[in-house]
Amino acid sequence: MADYQLFIDGEYVDAQSGETFDTTDPATGQVIGSIAKAGREDSVKAIEAARTAFDEGPWPKMSGPERAAKINQIADAIEAKADTFSEMEARDGGGTIKKAMFADVPGAVGAFRWFAKLAAEEADEVELPGTPFPPSSNYVRYEPHGVTTGIIPWNFPFIMAAWKLGPALAAGNCAVLKPASFTSITALMLGEVFQEVDLPPGVANIVAGPGGTAGEELAVNPLVDKTAFTGSTEVGRRIMQLASGTVKPVTLELGGKSANIVLDDADLDLAAACVLWGTFFHNGQVCESGTRALVHKSIYDDFLSLLVDRAGKIVIGNQMDFETDLGPLVSRSQVETVERYVQLGRDEVGDPVCGGQRPEGLADGLDPAAFYTPTIFAGVPNSAKIAQEEIFGPVLSVIPFETDDEAVAIANDSIYGLAGGVQSTNPERAKSVANRMRTGTVWINDYHLISPERPFGGYKQSGIGRELGINGLRAYQQVKHVHINPGGTRDNYIHLSALSGSI
Ligand code: NAP
Ligand code: MG
Repeated sequence: MADYQLFIDGEYVDAQSGETFDTTDPATGQVIGSIAKAGREDSVKAIEAARTAFDEGPWPKMSGPERAAKINQIADAIEAKADTFSEMEARDGGGTIKKAMFADVPGAVGAFRWFAKLAAEEADEVELPGTPFPPSSNYVRYEPHGVTTGIIPWNFPFIMAAWKLGPALAAGNCAVLKPASFTSITALMLGEVFQEVDLPPGVANIVAGPGGTAGEELAVNPLVDKTAFTGSTEVGRRIMQLASGTVKPVTLELGGKSANIVLDDADLDLAAACVLWGTFFHNGQVCESGTRALVHKSIYDDFLSLLVDRAGKIVIGNQMDFETDLGPLVSRSQVETVERYVQLGRDEVGDPVCGGQRPEGLADGLDPAAFYTPTIFAGVPNSAKIAQEEIFGPVLSVIPFETDDEAVAIANDSIYGLAGGVQSTNPERAKSVANRMRTGTVWINDYHLISPERPFGGYKQSGIGRELGINGLRAYQQVKHVHINPGGTRDNYIHLSALSGSI
């Protein structure tokens, strides 16, 4: 078991209270680390370090290409330790080692590299063509906000850390990050990387600790200029309230209940694969999971049997085993949440057509209370709670429809609007459906593919703003307009005559 400290002002430090908390491997319940438990006072210290680094340090004064070089060094250093990061990511959060090696670590590296590229290539000063007030000229500047904070969830801890720190640093901000308490290890390990590449002290700080104290401070503190949050819609509302005291800009990436629409012309084999991958990847603990499959009535029975048949073949086990498809959920309490929803589903629509229980026959040493079988409810009305509320577990609701218009209406009948899918062999028809879905991302004949180069975020109660793409950089920048009148003759100042005293 290892000890992990907070990373503040370029150094690893204990919490001021001296308190720690344990983190476990959810598959076994074994404690794998003791973590310094930040309180409000530690977040304040981290914010003050970031403030000083921004106001007095070199980072915001460096050119974009200079910052890019440093961010690429961060990516290189992570790649050099990819095996250790993958192992700790999988152990701490319960995601499979396959996911850690092929999605989490390369995804984080890719995000740092993308934002390094933007820092190197995007001009921070842009001349504007023409002029509304001749003979003036005008330009805009993209400037850092100053101190930015990021609060992230437990489902993709390492990628989320990169999504927050990558754009913040690329734009010249100084940042404080708070990982989720279930999964703080890999974010805290980033401190070693920052030391290795000589990132100036205070540019990136990491505090692990309870959301209600260490987290709230990051949103409320007046020294913070912008805050970004990924997590539940409920906490997102709280972040908005806290940030409103000093009118901080917020970006929010929140919950979802995404619809994956299977049209009657879909390639059923491929569509079934996309629905299963779209729902059960990482046990459905993905904000944009396609947890509502909307299936055309004419193919409904055949499609459902394909889903049930294949869901039963998903391999559940130790997440550290390369053959495992699904490991434990992040915690026993998350399994209990899933169980509550499955009971609700039984009461609302009857027994699920598969799953609906903890798995049997797990290897010795694995805790069955941390696992759950892929579960499918069929014939679900969209008004049912299991179709409306985010479960964040391996539970799919299959909903029949008859026309494309009806499918779009059902898909949009949700408080959320994060993502969705359309499965069809007719590209024009699929695009027409996709374009009418009120969500931030739609995958046609695919699911879950997110690239740092493309924008990601939600409509409605799934969030505010976009991460990634060029939009992701802009979210960490202020826009300044500068107007230059060349001076000279009074003809250039006709507007001044509107006040007779000024001429
Ligand atoms: P959560 O309870 O909202 O927690 C997210 C983060 O916020 C954690 O670091 C948590 O700290 C912190 N937090 C909790 N209460 C806080 C408060 N009052 N003030 C400031 N920070 C606070 O969410 P979760 O259970 O970790 O993650 C699951 C949720 O995240 C799901 O709803 C999912 O849809 C959403 N999610 C969305 C996206 C997206 O991109 N849209 C991505 C991933 C997850 P503690 O860990 O200490 O509680
Ligand atoms: Mg853990």
